[in-house]
Amino acid sequence: MTPSRRASADLPPRARRRPAARRPTTRADRPAPDVGAGRPPLRRVACPRRRWRGHAQPPGARRPRTAILHAAAALAAVLAALALAPSPADAWSDRTHFLITGEAVERLPEPLRGLLAGEADLKRLQEASAAPDGWRKADSPHYRPGEKPRHFFDIDALTDEAYPFANFPRDRAAAEKPFGPEPFREHGSGPWAAHDAFVAFVDALAHGRTALLFEQGGAMAHYAADLHMPFHTTKNFDGKETGNPGLHGALEIGLVHRRLETYAAEVRRGRRDVAYLADPRAALFDWLIEAHARAAPILEADAEARRKTAYNPAAHPEDLHDGDPERARPYYDALRAELQARGAPEALALRDASAHLAQLIYTAWVRAGKPLGLAPPEAAAKETPGVPYWLLALMAALAVVVLLPRRRPPRPVPPPEEPS
Ligand SMILES: [Zn+2]
Repeated sequence: MTPSRRASADLPPRARRRPAARRPTTRADRPAPDVGAGRPPLRRVACPRRRWRGHAQPPGARRPRTAILHAAAALAAVLAALALAPSPADAWSDRTHFLITGEAVERLPEPLRGLLAGEADLKRLQEASAAPDGWRKADSPHYRPGEKPRHFFDIDALTDEAYPFANFPRDRAAAEKPFGPEPFREHGSGPWAAHDAFVAFVDALAHGRTALLFEQGGAMAHYAADLHMPFHTTKNFDGKETGNPGLHGALEIGLVHRRLETYAAEVRRGRRDVAYLADPRAALFDWLIEAHARAAPILEADAEARRKTAYNPAAHPEDLHDGDPERARPYYDALRAELQARGAPEALALRDASAHLAQLIYTAWVRAGKPLGLAPPEAAAKETPGVPYWLLALMAALAVVVLLPRRRPPRPVPPPEEPS
């Protein structure tokens, strides 16, 4: 128990507290400066307008178009900052999300499987299931402020209750009641993000809105899969609290990418009937709590692998992506062996992510009335614009500058003619 947890020991078990202090956020899934959070870019345009009001200007003076240009420049600067801010590392990578989503579709019963398993539809769903990582990255053209906490849920930072967190409120309003939404912006809102996407996916399925169906189905697939990654469920998200720094990326990218075919084969094992979920939100919490329990054996396996190979993945972040350098190989071989000796919790996390996603898709389809067809792609393409929102905002700002009418001084009114 950390000192800050001890300080709140007199609270009842269900009592929840604010995080004691903002911890250093090097979490792979936790982007650096959320420059746009809670600050709609268009509000920047309004500021200079307020300044004009205070100015004493001669009646009929020309409207200060330079102020509008400055406002547009400020907006462009904000958008550029969003686009150029440093990128964090990935969560489960795009390739892993493709694997999890593809195998989930394979697990579906007919005729639902046939609805999504066509080559083009499956690819579309897989791409949609990787998209939310672009929404949370400040250097992505698809960046969405406020997206980052939707990918994790540090349950041990949000309650003093011990595993298995049986009394933790599954209802968001109940969970937020003691301290409001702020702790969930810091420590995540993954299960609710996945459930919101599930509800939207059911609605899109029921009403034949194909574009939305893929977008929300992909979002649901992404958030649900992220909650199966053990280090998306704990305040020790990068192993720093236990002397395992860098383990987050080493596990989900370094190890899984080096053995993607092996893990793909393991994910395909144990296909079973897909169950209908009576309470999908409760199921999402159950799954993340199960994932949380897998962190401990992975930390042990990593400690053993470091001890045997004297390799620290935090010291070589470039090794995650740069092929398979010689110096990293003994560590990843040892990590895999140590994990297998502990029941391969990382492989079970991937397999469960896929099997559980199949349950979510199946449950959504049943709730939507078991539709048997999707709208044709050309109709679906009209449902959503293909242009990123930031580009639309920039175009709108430029349109304001170009199209705003100039206010010309009133023409002098000629004096009434004297009758001659
Ligand atoms: Zn993610």
